[in-house]
Amino acid sequence: MAVQQLDLRREYQHFKKEIDQALAKVLASGRFILGEEGLSLEGEVTAYCGADYGVGVASGTDALHLSLRALDLKPGQEVILPSFTFIATAEAVAYCGATPVFVDIDPHTFNIDPNKVEEAITPKTRVILPVHLFGLPAPMKELAELAEMKELILVEDAAQAFGASLGEEKVGSLGDLACFSFFPTKNLNAYGDGGMVLTSREDLAQRLRSLRNHGTMERYLHREVGFNSRLDELQAAILRVKLGHIDWLNAQRRAVAQTYSRAFKGVVEVPLEPQGYHHVYHQYTIRTCHRDALLFHLQEKDIGCQVYYPIPLHMQKPFKDCPRGSMEETEKTAREVLSLPIHPFLTPGEVEEVIQAVLSFF
Ligand SMILES: *Cc1c(COP(=O)(O)O)cnc(C)c1O
Repeated sequence: MAVQQLDLRREYQHFKKEIDQALAKVLASGRFILGEEGLSLEGEVTAYCGADYGVGVASGTDALHLSLRALDLKPGQEVILPSFTFIATAEAVAYCGATPVFVDIDPHTFNIDPNKVEEAITPKTRVILPVHLFGLPAPMKELAELAEMKELILVEDAAQAFGASLGEEKVGSLGDLACFSFFPTKNLNAYGDGGMVLTSREDLAQRLRSLRNHGTMERYLHREVGFNSRLDELQAAILRVKLGHIDWLNAQRRAVAQTYSRAFKGVVEVPLEPQGYHHVYHQYTIRTCHRDALLFHLQEKDIGCQVYYPIPLHMQKPFKDCPRGSMEETEKTAREVLSLPIHPFLTPGEVEEVIQAVLSFF
């Protein structure tokens, strides 16, 4: 039997009653943009993550872009980020005309290496932009210390890590600004595009509200050129349903991950969850030097799996001339990683099938 990497039809069936009701309520209200659902969701996400302000936007990419705009990031200024991430992290920097500076990762966590960040800081650096890749928080304590010492701004790309935490603190509350994506494949997901920025700085929250809505603070008074980037009411209503179950959803992912990790111990390198870190397994990503052959083997057995990410950003055409340090670990990692099926609705039988398929290769 085929095992899919992600199955959103099962998810909808599971929440159908609640979601249908929530959608019907919005449809009957006649209000679709910047209404009560979005406002409620902003408050609920903010409370969940332990931040002070939440601003819903049209996507995770926009959350990043508008965050950097709110900081008045300008051409000539530099943003330090990993190369081993989804392209949107770097695109947001490019939209502002600023320069992405790529640094290498820790090969065991796949997250940005704080020592390499320190080496990359120049007088032009304004922002450090770590990604909580695959659901594991980046080393925020080390990065926050660096940011404070060097007077830099810390922005979290938390697109893959809703509900993850570091010690007692949830991602979304660990930087000056934090950016979430609600793309359908993410841990907290809409059925279309959506995103949110969290912050504890009132000035930035206000600026973001203006930027997402054509530079408007009061109706028809435009203080700046803004954007059309709102989270719509239908998506917000769906997200409020899922948010009510997010701890259970993430716990299901963690249970699958634990079963995999027990089975694969000593066979392949399994994801690391360092002491004090709470991983939410947006992806379950293993590492082996036989990656390509394993991928072929699993595809033959109809096991949905994917390489995130096969080509690091510093090797992509738009970013190949950007400043960067050594990319040794990033390039090696891109050749060795493979993400296996993981989602809250995998059956024990499917998990077993994936395990047997991987073990049969070795
Ligand atoms: C998904 C993702 C984004 C972009 O989010 P969209 O909602 O698709 O625009 C940004 N950064 C990372 C790390 C992501 O995984």
